[in-house]
Amino acid sequence: MTREEQIDARMLAFSPLYRGIYRKAIKGKSLRACINAQCLDCCASQRDEVALCTDLACPLWAVRPYRRSAAAHAGPPNVAVCEKEAEPEPNTSPGLPLAKQNG
Ligand code: SF4
Repeated sequence: MTREEQIDARMLAFSPLYRGIYRKAIKGKSLRACINAQCLDCCASQRDEVALCTDLACPLWAVRPYRRSAAAHAGPPNVAVCEKEAEPEPNTSPGLPLAKQNG
């Protein structure tokens, strides 16, 4: 299976709401998008599950998206960044394979 085929398959596992984050992550130009996409993938696109993640030993735990308060977790909250990245892309079809979207 080619990378593009694997990406298309993985894309379908993401909620349409978060496919833009995944699409940005696979381009390799945003580590924040990579972290957010990995956490969403880990939690089946359930942002509340990411926020409540109990795997304290995960290398991404301290930087995961959707943390609710700086007091409860180490580091500054980054919900605003995630909210912005979670906005659906206006000109994309949620179920359309990547290969067809790109050409
Ligand atoms: S921090 Fe939690 S949600 Fe994110 S990848 Fe690690 S275990 Fe999964």
